[in-house]
Amino acid sequence: MTQSETLFQEAVKYIPGGVNSPVRAFGSIGSTPRFITKADKAYMWDEDGNRYIDFIGSWGPMILGHNHPSILSAVLEACTKGLSFGAATRQEVTMAKLICDIVPSIDMIRMVNSGTEAVMSAIRVARGYTGRDKIIKFTGCYHGHSDGLLVKAGSGVMTAGVPDSSGVPASVTKDTLTAEYNNTDSVRTLFKQFGEQIAAIIVEPVGANMGVVPPAPGFLQSLRDICNEYDSLLIFDEVITGFRLSLSGAQGYYGITPDLTTFGKIIGAGMPVGAYGGRRDIMEQVSPVGNVYQAGTLSGNPVAMAAGITQLTLLRDHPEYYTLLNDTSDKFFNKIKEILLEKNLPWQVNHVGSIGSLFFTGQPVTDYASAKTSDVTAYARYCNRMLDHGIYIAPAQFEAMFLSLAHTPEDLSHTLDAMCTCL
Ligand SMILES: *Cc1c(COP(=O)(O)O)cnc(C)c1O
Repeated sequence: MTQSETLFQEAVKYIPGGVNSPVRAFGSIGSTPRFITKADKAYMWDEDGNRYIDFIGSWGPMILGHNHPSILSAVLEACTKGLSFGAATRQEVTMAKLICDIVPSIDMIRMVNSGTEAVMSAIRVARGYTGRDKIIKFTGCYHGHSDGLLVKAGSGVMTAGVPDSSGVPASVTKDTLTAEYNNTDSVRTLFKQFGEQIAAIIVEPVGANMGVVPPAPGFLQSLRDICNEYDSLLIFDEVITGFRLSLSGAQGYYGITPDLTTFGKIIGAGMPVGAYGGRRDIMEQVSPVGNVYQAGTLSGNPVAMAAGITQLTLLRDHPEYYTLLNDTSDKFFNKIKEILLEKNLPWQVNHVGSIGSLFFTGQPVTDYASAKTSDVTAYARYCNRMLDHGIYIAPAQFEAMFLSLAHTPEDLSHTLDAMCTCL
């Protein structure tokens, strides 16, 4: 038995499923989790000493690779001054100003500790601001695990085949309406019926939790138009896309201005950070200025801020990083398409910038229903083979592959060779 297998046997005794987040389980590929000991640049090592080229990057945060020296030294420095004060700090001002300067739609921002918290809070603000209760989300979009949003969610929920979670009262989700991704008519239909009661539409501007599903041309603009028409707010959940697709996220990439935006993952550089922000008149609803209550003992934590500020500053100061990462990723995903053609396999590759997915289906994947046509058994076989070849990809079909600036041309060509063998 491997060290990972031994540890997993222990883990399941004390932790539900042996993992602290379901997406880390390897159940859907019929395997056991690799227990990771360390990571550096584009690599991770497990308890058995195996090295992997990492295409998860902690599910997005490690856009500069693991152990970036500047981030590491900023964190170590911050640690020597105290881990948490529960009081205001200069670093919080630096972080807030940095994000407001980078993202034009954001006048004010509030730090929280996870993407889940960011979305939950943004929804509360949208409801407080509009005085309306209903929200629209899209089937297959994941917005964290707060009660009201665990309706037709993607990611681990999709893999588990559980459309909803037990323990969520129907009374809590009755105001969560669901529309189909890339289907403006399904949104219009809901607005015709409930228009004056809808506080907000929340959307992943690039679907990344049912595998990667790009927005169809005009889809995001149509959401903006509908929200304008009905005085509802448009919330972009940029927990994955923020500071990834471009410095100003998907909103900059597609040129659409949301009213509120949620962040996570990249803004903490690997530390637990989330944030929500947007127009000043909306954000001034938040306590202690306004009446929408939201708080957090560890929010704006100085060590986490040090990591986030350093990562975002590096990204801001190096616009060429995005050109490089997106070009490299375009080439990489196109090469996968070539391999599929050569092998005469009908599988689909979707990608936007540095996130992408290989779906084991012959039909184009544009929404939840088409994503679900993927052959998850074929994915499981492929994924296990890739792991054996030292390539760490998501242990489930409906997740993204994340490229980082640390992946070298050799890492990528080695990965493509492995794909050639494993597909
Ligand atoms: C990961 C994710 C979340 C939840 O963030 P956590 O930090 O895991 O709570 C919310 N929205 C999207 C789009 C995500 O990908």
